[in-house]
Amino acid sequence: MGRRKKVKTSEIQEETQKAELERTKKSEKREEKKLLTSLEEGMKYAILIGDGMGDFILKELGGKTPLEVAITPGMDFIASWGEIGWCQTIPSGLHPGSDVAIMGLLGYPPEKKYTGRGPIEAASKGIILKPEDVAYRCNLVTLKFEGKDLIMEDYSAGHISTEEATELIETINRYAGTDKMEIFPGKSYRHILIWRGGSGGLTTYPPHDLLGKNIWFAFEAYNEEPYLKDFIIKAIGILEKHPINQRRKSQGKLPANAIWPWGQGRTPELEPFEKKWGLKGAAISAVDLIKGLAILTRLTFIEVPGATGYLDTNYEGKVDYAIEALKEHDLVLIHVEAPDEVSHEGSLELKIKAINEFDRRVVRYFLERIVEITDKYRILVCCDHLTPISIRTHSTKPVPWAIFDSVRNREKRREVNFCEKAAYNSSIFFKSGPELLSYFLQRSPLDLTNSS
Ligand SMILES: [Zn+2]
Repeated sequence: MGRRKKVKTSEIQEETQKAELERTKKSEKREEKKLLTSLEEGMKYAILIGDGMGDFILKELGGKTPLEVAITPGMDFIASWGEIGWCQTIPSGLHPGSDVAIMGLLGYPPEKKYTGRGPIEAASKGIILKPEDVAYRCNLVTLKFEGKDLIMEDYSAGHISTEEATELIETINRYAGTDKMEIFPGKSYRHILIWRGGSGGLTTYPPHDLLGKNIWFAFEAYNEEPYLKDFIIKAIGILEKHPINQRRKSQGKLPANAIWPWGQGRTPELEPFEKKWGLKGAAISAVDLIKGLAILTRLTFIEVPGATGYLDTNYEGKVDYAIEALKEHDLVLIHVEAPDEVSHEGSLELKIKAINEFDRRVVRYFLERIVEITDKYRILVCCDHLTPISIRTHSTKPVPWAIFDSVRNREKRREVNFCEKAAYNSSIFFKSGPELLSYFLQRSPLDLTNSS
């Protein structure tokens, strides 16, 4: 009896000590959090993304990259006073798209969360999906026979007009649509097919990757889903006979003679940005995919007049709206598409111009204007993915980034040109977008306990 009591006493002592230790730990953590909170209190955050700015070294630039030769005192300032590093924004196995990269840069691991571009574009158009629904991006395309080969002649049906496309899509819906299958018309050749309670399991191929190729393998891949294949075949029959296509052919234009569903998925489960990071955020972009991501993560999406997604975009307008947004929000993301577009065009001259414009009219202008509303701000400048001019498409290689903190970075540390080489020489590497964001925000996601 006595012995048992003794054991009990020592157990109690041990428990008390443990509890004491826990309490100290907890209060230390609270103090730490308080200190961090006071440092971060009122901090404004800006993420400035030059889409596809990064590149490879080029012979025609004497072994330099476009970022290296572009005139970028804004980004150089951020890198010289703050920090520069690199980041693997594209997880292995995923395609190097802006949707994947920016989902990561917003702190959502794409390897766990990304389900396809279809549902992101659907969100941007306000299409509501139930958990069992699948959204496909659906192009109007031009297919042609060459002997026995079936060729993808154009992924855009000759950049068909929105007016013509809408009429074609409406006809398809009327004669081939079911309570499960419906196409939501978008702009030009870009539409969304919703398959209610459908399947998203099959392999599909982006039509722009099939240009000029014999596509039987890709067309036959739809055989996996007979219900979908049947819908496609019916649509082809309707398109073939449609007066709009007859007229286009007689005018020497490419007919929109097929639909091409791809990039499908169910709506990704993304917790609201504010709930995840404790910050109220806003996003500015001319691109639907970024708008879709903003809607899915409950960022305030701000439409800026004159934002075109190209070189002629309203750069200053984006910054003006961002500054305004920061009065009500903690964080703003500005996405500029132009460097990516001109990289796809393969124009080195325009790429350098696009980077110059991004630096002068977005980064430098932002630095000028932000001090009007606060002296406590942190800026992350980066690209989502590289779009090397030599390949005219996206690359999965790591991207350069730089961060400037107006409170911590009070003097110039060194002279750095913001470019790939300086970034790759840095010891600060992040193996994912969420890691970079977490470092930038100086905090961990609030939902660490329920994973991701
Ligand atoms: Zn691109």
